[in-house]
Amino acid sequence: MEPDWPLSGQVKESAGGAGNKPGSRASIISMVFQLDHIGIVVESLEQAVPLWCGMLGFPAESVEYHEVPAEGVRIAMLQGNIKLELLEATDPQGSVQRFLEKRGGGLHHLCFATGSADEAHARLSEAGYQLLSDAPLNGAEGRVFFIHPRSASGVLSEMVELEEAE
Ligand code: ZN
Repeated sequence: MEPDWPLSGQVKESAGGAGNKPGSRASIISMVFQLDHIGIVVESLEQAVPLWCGMLGFPAESVEYHEVPAEGVRIAMLQGNIKLELLEATDPQGSVQRFLEKRGGGLHHLCFATGSADEAHARLSEAGYQLLSDAPLNGAEGRVFFIHPRSASGVLSEMVELEEAE
């Protein structure tokens, strides 16, 4: 597999051709990749949220909760300079539950921000990356898709579509 990175072209197109303002999120993403969040599988949000809030000094009332039926999870988001996504399985047959049973929880995935999820999905698929869905899915905070650890040095990786800044 020969990865190439036509990222700037892709993102600029999706953000409306030459209209990118310097310093806009899309133009920054066109130069550097951006980590959006780190996913951590936990057995119980009820136990894990106070643990992480206590460790980081993060206010519990600022934690955002989402149900994501498409991924069989309930998540808690803690927003720092990036986000921590604590994942609790809601689907006993789902991949997060299987991860919990196999590994006892822990670091699960890295999520990177992208422009159009459709374009990123098509680009990576054409370049030979193994993707976990045929198209982007509805995640907690936008359209997402996952790249199989086999195609990413053993790290489950996620791409999330950025909301346009303007
Ligand atoms: Zn995630």
